[in-house]
Amino acid sequence: MGEFELIERFFKRPARRAALGVGDDCALWQPAPGMQLAISSDMLVEGRHFLSTVDPARLGHKALAVNLSDLAACGAQPLAFTLALALPRADEAWLGAFAQGLLQLADAHGCELIGGDTTQGPLNICITVFGEVPPGDALLRSNAQPGDDIYVSGTLGDARLALDVFRGTQSLDSDAFAQARARLEQPTPRVALGVALRAIADAAIDLSDGLLGDLGHILQRSNVGAQIDTHWIQTPTLFHEQPAGVSPLLSHLPLTRRLDLALAGGDDYELCFTAPVEQRELVHAAAWETDTPICRIGRITAEPGLRVLDAQGQAITRRFAAFDHFA
Ligand code: ADP
Ligand code: MG
Repeated sequence: MGEFELIERFFKRPARRAALGVGDDCALWQPAPGMQLAISSDMLVEGRHFLSTVDPARLGHKALAVNLSDLAACGAQPLAFTLALALPRADEAWLGAFAQGLLQLADAHGCELIGGDTTQGPLNICITVFGEVPPGDALLRSNAQPGDDIYVSGTLGDARLALDVFRGTQSLDSDAFAQARARLEQPTPRVALGVALRAIADAAIDLSDGLLGDLGHILQRSNVGAQIDTHWIQTPTLFHEQPAGVSPLLSHLPLTRRLDLALAGGDDYELCFTAPVEQRELVHAAAWETDTPICRIGRITAEPGLRVLDAQGQAITRRFAAFDHFA
């Protein structure tokens, strides 16, 4: 199977909203009048972002999910994406499963594959997504205000828990491992929540490298500090009967370990956002309407720095290292 047959078989689909899709030198897209484009790229490298043994359908899902998560963090509605793929070989079974996982998530979000590049080489997947947002409505890292509540969506730490089982530093029964592994390999991009928060939240970011590190980007860009409580890690809560903040998968672990996983685990692909206290009801409604559990975890302070408080309100001084590819 040659390069063009491969593209034709696995990645060429009839154009829908695109004026011109896969097959020419460029794709053509007519932006909706008055809308801003939101654009983001994320690359997944074998051995760095995923294990060589990962199920290809899950890999296809994750490659797009991490990109959709960036659109979610800006409150942008997904439109289309391109796929640059380096493959060691043209393995039909692998490609079929990869395309199925990828395109199923794409269809669920009405996000069209409109082009890309395919080359032979070590397995590497780079996706660029395009979304739209009304001018001025995009959620930015730079607009957190002193006094804002800080929230996270979903549950944190599950993906890192699964990674630690793969690395042999954590044991878990097989049911719990299957659940944690699904969170690592098939993250849920919180697109609907991001869009619903447009007029409500002040700042947002998606969590890829661990809560404290990623929240740190909001603090730096907004010139503010934050105080994070840990009651939500110590006593897990429910949001309309769904686990919020941390999942039951972490409940049997020692507290220090739960803190590490939830605060600095990484690969969560949940949203962290801030909103004025007066918006609490609207934040709650946005989460409820989009069926997304959320948990309030602290507040933005005028004083710079990030303080993590224990159950007695005392600052926890030990370090929680966030994941850094070059550290
Ligand atoms: P060119 O050499 O002109 O850049 P290519 O031969 O690389 O074009 O690609 C041919 C067409 O197939 C283009 O429309 C390109 O966008 C599309 N394409 C290539 N690889 C992929 C892929 N992995 N997924 C989707 N479309 C792709
Ligand atoms: Mg060309």
